[in-house]
Amino acid sequence: MRKEETICCIVGGGPAGLVAGLLLARQGADVLVLEKHGDFLRDFRGDTIHPSTLELLHELGWIDEFLQLPHTKMTHVTVEMAGAPVTFADFRRLRVRCPYVAFMPQWDFLDFLTNKARAYRGFRLMMNAEVTELMEDADHVVGVRARIPEGQLEVRARLVLGADGRHSIVRRSANMEVVKNSPPMDVLWFRLSRRPGEEFTFFRPGRGRVLICINRGEYWQMAYVIPSGQFDAVKAAGLDTLRSNIVELFPQLADRVEELGEWDDVRFLRVSVDRLRRWFRPGLLCIGDAAHAMSPAGGVGINLAVQDAVATANILGPSLRRGDSPPVQELRRVQRRREFPTRVTQAVQVRAFRGLYPKDLRDDPSLHMPFGFRLFRRLPPLRHLTGRFIGIGIRPEHKRR
Ligand SMILES: Cc1cc2nc3c(=O)[nH]c(=O)nc-3n(C[C@H](O)[C@H](O)[C@H](O)COP(=O)(O)OP(=O)(O)OC[C@H]3O[C@@H](n4cnc5c(N)ncnc54)[C@H](O)[C@@H]3O)c2cc1C
Repeated sequence: MRKEETICCIVGGGPAGLVAGLLLARQGADVLVLEKHGDFLRDFRGDTIHPSTLELLHELGWIDEFLQLPHTKMTHVTVEMAGAPVTFADFRRLRVRCPYVAFMPQWDFLDFLTNKARAYRGFRLMMNAEVTELMEDADHVVGVRARIPEGQLEVRARLVLGADGRHSIVRRSANMEVVKNSPPMDVLWFRLSRRPGEEFTFFRPGRGRVLICINRGEYWQMAYVIPSGQFDAVKAAGLDTLRSNIVELFPQLADRVEELGEWDDVRFLRVSVDRLRRWFRPGLLCIGDAAHAMSPAGGVGINLAVQDAVATANILGPSLRRGDSPPVQELRRVQRRREFPTRVTQAVQVRAFRGLYPKDLRDDPSLHMPFGFRLFRRLPPLRHLTGRFIGIGIRPEHKRR
């Protein structure tokens, strides 16, 4: 049994865990991040770096270096509805250094954060360390136990930060009460090759489905969004039906849809939307998807996770720098600060996508425009409001120290 001690043990090296680790170490706190995978090379975790996250990198003085990494820019979101283009989010009027969403593979973003964080003496990251349970003393969380390649690891800490995503082991072992929301969709995730210079509409709705295309240079990362609980029916209908549905939405893909040769080429992701009633216990705080699993709608989950991390570092930084266990009032302050933006964002995520599906799945929304989209055509300034909501969010956080 290997034993370690730290002031703040962060479970999960995703956007929430790494940003929190970086900002706390930057303030002089001792942090140990435990990540269960051996690298960050995982797909399907979203590729969007929003204006508010880019603004944080600007505040930290790293934006020019960050933008050297390969990325594409999206200044507004336009979809095709009933044969007409509708712009429903525009980021160009945001008063920030980068008024656009940068699309970048998440592993590049996480590698960048890790490299920056390693410059701080207090920062340690342990890969291949899978947390299995919390260590408790009476009602107080005092550390975690983890599996590592050499065997077992025990980490004692003044604070455990649960940032281990939507299937969080931390929140399960802490018996935290989860309030579930019913997301209207699930996602099939796959790749198709991209021809040089090819450009597609980002998003296309069809009968009971939506296809989203993310330009990854040599290939298209495709998200095929279906109503929640329909995956068995999609699978039973067969791969040929899936391929022809894709071509119906994007006829340009007819020449390569055969690249989906078997179901193993398609990844199914059950979308969950939920939140903890209480994000903390003495010695423990959950943030990011561990505190509130986000749907991919609007691509705002990474953003929210990063904002939680900034608020955590702002509020808990001084206690952790002193080596103290943050009092419960401080943990509650983090929840108070972040819960409102989370609840509003989740409510919008769930309602917006529900409105996109026709009640009868045989109806084709590409033939008639849903009410919400007609509104964007009639009131163009609305697109700047949604641009702000998606790009910056509610109650934006700025690093204080
Ligand atoms: C299909 C899909 C697409 C999405 N697309 C987007 C998008 O385009 N843009 C966007 O902003 N959001 C998107 N989201 C939401 C987004 O992925 C999350 O909201 C965001 O990643 C949350 O960040 P996080 O750091 O809280 O958690 P995560 O990103 O889930 O990170 C958690 C980390 O903890 C690690 N971990 C888990 N368990 C353990 C353990 N026991 N021990 C140690 N480590 C552990 C994981 O390996 C992972 O690295 C999408 C979600 C889905 C389901």
